[in-house]
Amino acid sequence: MPETSKNTRCLAALDKAHVWHPFTPMKQWRESSPLVIERAQGPYLFDTQGNRYIDGVSSLWCNVHGHRVPEIDRAIRDQLDKVAHTTLMGLASPPSIELAARLCAIAPGHLNKVFYSDAGATAVEVAFKMAVGYWHHRGRPGKCGFIGLAGAYHGDTTGAMSVGYSDLFHRPFVSMVFPTTFFPSPDACRPPGEVAKKFHDSREALSAECEACWPSEDEALCRRLKDHCLCELETMLSAQADQTAAIVIEPVMQGAAGMICQPPGFVRGVAELAKRFDVLWIADEVATGFGRTARMFACEHDQVAPDILCLGKGISGGYLPLAATLTTDEIEQAFCGEIEDRRTLYHGHTYTGNALSCAAALASLDLFEKNRLLDHIAVSERMIRDRLAVLRACPHVLDIRQRGIMVGIELCRDRRTAEPFDFTKRTAAAVCHAMRRHDVLVRPLGDVIVLMPIAAMPHEVLDRMLAVIVETLSQWRFEP
Ligand code: PMP
Repeated sequence: MPETSKNTRCLAALDKAHVWHPFTPMKQWRESSPLVIERAQGPYLFDTQGNRYIDGVSSLWCNVHGHRVPEIDRAIRDQLDKVAHTTLMGLASPPSIELAARLCAIAPGHLNKVFYSDAGATAVEVAFKMAVGYWHHRGRPGKCGFIGLAGAYHGDTTGAMSVGYSDLFHRPFVSMVFPTTFFPSPDACRPPGEVAKKFHDSREALSAECEACWPSEDEALCRRLKDHCLCELETMLSAQADQTAAIVIEPVMQGAAGMICQPPGFVRGVAELAKRFDVLWIADEVATGFGRTARMFACEHDQVAPDILCLGKGISGGYLPLAATLTTDEIEQAFCGEIEDRRTLYHGHTYTGNALSCAAALASLDLFEKNRLLDHIAVSERMIRDRLAVLRACPHVLDIRQRGIMVGIELCRDRRTAEPFDFTKRTAAAVCHAMRRHDVLVRPLGDVIVLMPIAAMPHEVLDRMLAVIVETLSQWRFEP
């Protein structure tokens, strides 16, 4: 047996013996042959056998400029020559200072204060404490609840689970979560309430050529959905604004919910209701931030700015763990006072504002400008839309939802009835697995195939990835 194969088998055995993988059904994992990724270059990952794969999930939605980018590698090495980590508790550091100023300069609205942490979930937890603490210090401690968007995912810490509750992910932990109210998401494939009836009536009346429109592109349906969901939010706020600290949404595209996109104007509607009812609104842009929706931040699509913005994933170019929660001077001021006023936000993590991570983030921001990355993403967005259009011929594709380079291809048993596959069959997972044979790595969310290419992926590589996806889906023998 060649040395590389022996090495891989040995690593796989040790992995199965000792590593508990995130979001992974471990029984099935141990029955499989894991890919062991050893190195990477640009848009490609290489396993221990030397096989090359296109990184179609950008290493879980975070890689921006590719792997082993010389500018980012150099920035990290330069910082390493100075110091890897010092605490921000009672000390400051050049990269964290410079990055905070740069983030405030590019963030929407008047977000002028940055609180660092190290994961998307922690950025969200900090946001929740900022919101509840703000009202507490302003003498309104009763305003301590949250209104979230149905189906949302904000991470796996307790607060994030509470405001992003998913029955599939969190059922055993329901006793741990705090009560949260959810307003409906404008999900075109599962339209809520009376919109559903109108939707199904109108779909039934559609002629074959009209079916060329994906549900999420059906403008009339999306308008009705937007109005319905915002109306529900308004009703909730009328009843409970006095007990609500903040509304929390992933703006424009709900990622882990299955790539559920929001109609234009939806985020603005949420922002206006928050203002009218005197509650804060928190934008979780952990997934959508840093160019994913073809704008630096998704809130820009509706030209609105949240009171609190959560950033993670792409902030460091996808290199090192880093997250940030941005807020206004006004909210931060509520936490300032004399020591005896007890206003200090006693919250932090050991690696808060890590110097290597901040250095990577600064180099990543430079590359956005130097490489005109948002222009590149705009072309990628059009390419994806054009290439995937042929999937309209596939009766098992229910919807293709896209904002920028965030894409969800939802599969179903029959497009005419929108009937889902039996989820235990893991249909989309099988399709994704088959793409590995063609050197493409993508991951599903339920029966939604998620495409999240590296933002700077060269267009010829993106083209190849799209060709593999189209070919695999077009030729797949779907079991009923
Ligand atoms: N918020 C959103 C919108 C996310 O998509 C995620 C992760 N996918 C998180 C928060 C949590 O981020 P992390 O995994 O870094 O904790």
